[in-house]
Amino acid sequence: MVSLIRRSTSPLFLAKRLLQVEQNLINSDKIRSKHLRLSMSSTSESVAANKPPKVLVTRPDVPTVGLELLKKKCNLVIWDKPGPIPRNMLMERIAGVDGVFCTLVDKIDEEILTAAGPQLKVVATMSVGFDHLDLKALMERNIKVGYTPGILTDATAELTVALLLATSRRLLEANKAISRGEWTSWAPTWMCGPGLSNATVGIVGLGRIGAQVAKCLKSFNVAKILYTSRTEKREAAEFGGRKVSIDDLVAQSDFVIVTCALTPETSGLFNKKMFEKMKKTAILVNTSRGPIVDQPALIEALKNGTIRAAGLDVMTPEPIPLDSELLKLDNCVILPHIGSASCETRDEMARVTALNILAVFENTQMPLPLDL
Ligand code: NAP
Repeated sequence: MVSLIRRSTSPLFLAKRLLQVEQNLINSDKIRSKHLRLSMSSTSESVAANKPPKVLVTRPDVPTVGLELLKKKCNLVIWDKPGPIPRNMLMERIAGVDGVFCTLVDKIDEEILTAAGPQLKVVATMSVGFDHLDLKALMERNIKVGYTPGILTDATAELTVALLLATSRRLLEANKAISRGEWTSWAPTWMCGPGLSNATVGIVGLGRIGAQVAKCLKSFNVAKILYTSRTEKREAAEFGGRKVSIDDLVAQSDFVIVTCALTPETSGLFNKKMFEKMKKTAILVNTSRGPIVDQPALIEALKNGTIRAAGLDVMTPEPIPLDSELLKLDNCVILPHIGSASCETRDEMARVTALNILAVFENTQMPLPLDL
């Protein structure tokens, strides 16, 4: 099962699958009218009436490649103001659409789905995380769900490593010190931080991103890689990873990296008690989701030296208020949720999200379905 999931999100498999889906869409274009007649019974009203399906795109700044694909075959309702669509507008604009192109900031729950109406066939999110989607409500309505696993693994792992290094080697703090005129000469102990060589790294949630982070860190000559997971991961052999309990992981690790999914079990996992179990010299890095960390407890832990430092790409709320204490701490590096923000990755995420939607209207297999 695990190897099947891994295979289904490996770059080669993804590329082949996407090519196949695109070819299917081209072929289906040629026989479009015939196809639409044949699929009338199982598709939405607008498709049944031979009208292009109506798709809501929840923001205007989606990479063009995704929008262009959809425009060829669908009637688009695009939220055209900058930033995410406000909830009341989402309720209004979703009414009567056949498909939704959304992102992780759009909460798609029971209320929104009711506002959409029974014709809604597909919700595709331009993200691998799906904690913003009410899967039960989607399943009950038989709505297909698409997401983008695998596509952003490398970009997010890369950012995780960058954030870890920025935090441990105090890159931002050092850079600010120059601007403040504090760099008076080379100094033996100034701006020192812990190195990765011979360190123990703990990965909380060894999924696609966690495993890729581990592979990257192996080349920094770390001594040990520990991980937590509900199941043993065979691929951990590649980097000598050892499965341990979360308590053992935090007690032993110099670097604790959170890459697990946000679920009811992982929400608030890093709380006061957990910080007290960590080494005083430990560094926490979170590139998963903000609510996995109890933020007030983290602020206390950073202020009173319970742990050494933290690097966060995700937090609560997002964007972080400018008066947040986290922004005042030298031992905390904050990034604005840019894990997957490489140009090529974002383009590919938009493209696949569009293909996920089109596949449903064409009655073909979605490239990356979320199995409900
Ligand atoms: P993935 O392959 O599904 O990995 C998620 C991992 O979480 C799984 O290996 C799972 O392990 C683990 N997990 C789930 N519940 C757990 C629990 N209770 N305790 C410990 N581990 C648990 O997903 P991915 O592609 O690596 O993405 C991981 C997360 O990163 C996403 O859910 C998303 O929230 C976040 N993300 C953030 C950014 C960003 O911009 N910062 C970008 C992409 C993704 P087992 O099933 O083996 O237990």
